[in-house]
Amino acid sequence: MTVAVISDIHANLPALRAVLADIDATAPNATIWHTGDIVGYNAHPNEVIELLHSRSVIGVMGNHDAAAVDVIDVLDFNSAAAAAIAWTKSVLTQASREWLENLPRIVELGDATLVHGSPSDPFWEYIDSAQRAGANAETLKTPLLFHGHTHRPRLFAASDPAGPVHAIPINVAPISLSKHALINVGSVGQPRDGDPRACWVLWEHSDVEGSRLGSATWRRVPYAIRETQAAMRAVHLPERLIERLAHGE
Ligand code: ZN
Repeated sequence: MTVAVISDIHANLPALRAVLADIDATAPNATIWHTGDIVGYNAHPNEVIELLHSRSVIGVMGNHDAAAVDVIDVLDFNSAAAAAIAWTKSVLTQASREWLENLPRIVELGDATLVHGSPSDPFWEYIDSAQRAGANAETLKTPLLFHGHTHRPRLFAASDPAGPVHAIPINVAPISLSKHALINVGSVGQPRDGDPRACWVLWEHSDVEGSRLGSATWRRVPYAIRETQAAMRAVHLPERLIERLAHGE
């Protein structure tokens, strides 16, 4: 089984198109999952939802999705993020709204759990330390967790099944997965790790004895950042959100 996992698309249509093209070229038969934050920040919420729907992509609700359909309040958002949510709400179609409203908070699919932030706090917790990763690993009912929210690709895993989880360095090579791997798939639409290219994860689920959980490969994909920025300027989204895309921050 081959799965492509995407996250934090944030209404960035050029970035999503580039990632889907890379998925189709790398793993043409892959099932596609997402870990939330479909909308917010960027300028193409309806187009992104239509494209995900047409590709039968399944996944969970992020905090920006929740704010866009009034599941949570924008009071906890910074001013630029809140302004983008207000604009998003003004343009969402009824069909888009219903699609977002129907996203679950957390879902288990075979060996993997999908959530936006963390299992203990799906909308808000950032799994950004070994300690937070370890506390969440203890609550997992599946060996693997795919998540997003920080917009930074990251892997926490245990070196031996009884040991604590710790940060594992990521590079472009496939990384073999063991029980209690917490996989942050990075962001399609607003990367924040200093690399402006869109990010996604290829999970190759193996049937081989002893390596049943397979491997994860983080992929980086250049896209037409200026096209995204022009679309944002045309609808007067905050300049800070437009500029940061060029720097991956
Ligand atoms: Zn996000």
